Amino acid sequence: MTDTKTHPAAAPSGKAADQQQFLTILSREDAVTRFEAALFPRSNAIVEVPIGEALGLALAADVTAAVDVPPFDRSNVDGFAVRSADLAAAGEGHPVGLALNGEVIACGVEPRKPVRTGTATTIATGGPVPRGADAIVMVEHTQPAGDDAIEVRRAATPGQFVSHAGSDIASGELLLRAGVTVGSREIGMLAACGIASVPVVPKPRVGILSTGDELVQPGQPLVPAGIYDSNGAIIAASVAENGGEPTLLGAFADDEATLEAAMRKALAEFDFLILSGGTSKGAGDVSHRIVERLGKPGIVAHGVALKPGKPLCLAVCDGKPVVILPGFPTSAMFTFHDMIVPVLRRMAGLGPRADGIVAARTPVRIASEAGRTEFVMVSLVEGADGLVAYPTGKGSGAITSFAQADGFLRIEALADHLPAQSEVSVTLLTPQVRVPDLVIIGSHCTGLDRALTPLVRDGFAVRSLTVGSMAGLAAARRGECDLAPIHLLDEKSGAYNAPFLVDGLELVPGWRRMQGIVHRLGDTRFEGIGADEALRNALGDPDCLMVNRNHGAGTRILIDRLLGAARPEGYRNQPRSHNAVAAAVAQGRADWGVTIEPVARAAGLGFIPLTEEHYDFAMVSARRERPAVRAFLEKLQSQETREALLLAGFHPAES
Ligand code: AMP
Ligand code: MG
Repeated sequence: MTDTKTHPAAAPSGKAADQQQFLTILSREDAVTRFEAALFPRSNAIVEVPIGEALGLALAADVTAAVDVPPFDRSNVDGFAVRSADLAAAGEGHPVGLALNGEVIACGVEPRKPVRTGTATTIATGGPVPRGADAIVMVEHTQPAGDDAIEVRRAATPGQFVSHAGSDIASGELLLRAGVTVGSREIGMLAACGIASVPVVPKPRVGILSTGDELVQPGQPLVPAGIYDSNGAIIAASVAENGGEPTLLGAFADDEATLEAAMRKALAEFDFLILSGGTSKGAGDVSHRIVERLGKPGIVAHGVALKPGKPLCLAVCDGKPVVILPGFPTSAMFTFHDMIVPVLRRMAGLGPRADGIVAARTPVRIASEAGRTEFVMVSLVEGADGLVAYPTGKGSGAITSFAQADGFLRIEALADHLPAQSEVSVTLLTPQVRVPDLVIIGSHCTGLDRALTPLVRDGFAVRSLTVGSMAGLAAARRGECDLAPIHLLDEKSGAYNAPFLVDGLELVPGWRRMQGIVHRLGDTRFEGIGADEALRNALGDPDCLMVNRNHGAGTRILIDRLLGAARPEGYRNQPRSHNAVAAAVAQGRADWGVTIEPVARAAGLGFIPLTEEHYDFAMVSARRERPAVRAFLEKLQSQETREALLLAGFHPAES
């Protein structure tokens, strides 16, 4: 590769312009306007392709039928071609005899003999109607009368069981309009008219580059501090879903020279470049600086008053769009769908995507940043009176907040929150929402996946939202779910879960999971000793770092009981899940913590048992008889589920 580092001709007036772009935060609408103004109008390329290859493409010109379909008057049934006038007087008590003409019109057989008065010709479904005949009688409505005659006992109307030439498609008729997306039905119509190829707008070829020193391709082992490149794959799939032809070019380190070489090469080969990552002001963020040098007019928007997605960078380089999506997967996907898809579809000649919109209610208050249009991914569940939109928010860094969402709602730039119970419009990410058959909202456990597998296999749509035990209970009280999985220890009674139930809820026993101290194998402060001694060792060693849990977690209650007044180093490190505790210990960021046994074992860590925790379900009694709930209760008791739970390290409650 040559010609990579500098490109004086394309370089804009230098740093000042770059700085200015950075300081200007545009509204979403202004950013879209500037991007589209730099790209459109443009003339789309047109290519002629075989109809089979036109699937999903936009027709570039009107297509007119050159033949009639069907091309001749055609029989719709197996029977006899007749003159209807001959049968005018036929009836149950008045059979009419017709002499058979000596030919059989099968499909593809051209009739030779006319049907004269008093005669009929044997004809198959799809056969051309012979001269003289104007109707078909079904074979079921006739009786043989010797070898070469039939008897008919009912009248026939003219045109009966005949499809006339051109009745389906008439020659000269406009078959398909320019701009139509070619699907299987359109291909069928084209084929029926004998059309083998059509002019279409070719798919824009989109080169996709991920940027970041930390990125590892799926399939490769994860290195320390590495992150799998998920943006590349999800952008490629979304490009394909929206009429583009994606090419994954891989992940590139945050190195200006290497990345510039890759971008110049890609710009020469593709119609459209989509990068992700490296668009903020961070020291390693170089891609936007490169874009400035790639062609005119360059960056048209960098920094949009959007949440998520503020660092979005939109550019046009000598007619080709170059987009840098934010690195965080949810930000990347949201900005892609909201602002890039419309442009991609327009370049592909396709109409705007039909977004479905449904009305729903928000169950909780949603905080928002004033000054930015905020988009909140939501999951829809059926409440007592209509749909409820649950924020799936795990933050813009989470891939699941996009993948598990049914749609998103919008909070206007001026608002700083959306109150609970607001009526909202949800724009669907999927063509139609499938309201789940079973809704589970509460605490998550890997055992839950085992219990739900047989239900999903039986065709139930299951939605499980992780919001924690307390929030799950609140959802159950509002009737927004069928079951709320909880593991709450009542400190007064020392009992799990039952003391937390209120009227309208009943307890379904789930399973028990061993809580204990987790440590790295071979750590002599913990290895092979009991919990009391391990705790004494940990508290006695100032270098021994703990990892705590978040306030409100069942595990946190346990930890606080264990520690009493002690506040060892690491107490303030309070992640929200069992897995995060195990990861901190496994990676040496902490030396011990409290987690459940299956998670400790799966992480290859040592485990000292403390106490068994009860993971049960608060069931909404009013929903007990719903088919999916009954199926869940049944499966929970089944041998299969109990064995799967045991195998995964959980102890099913006695039934
Ligand atoms: P950046 O915009 O480069 O500062 O990245 C912001 C965050 O997104 C960082 O945590 C990155 O590791 C993450 N990120 C960037 N690119 C990707 C990618 N292709 N796949 C998954 N995560 C990414
Ligand atoms: Mg980066």
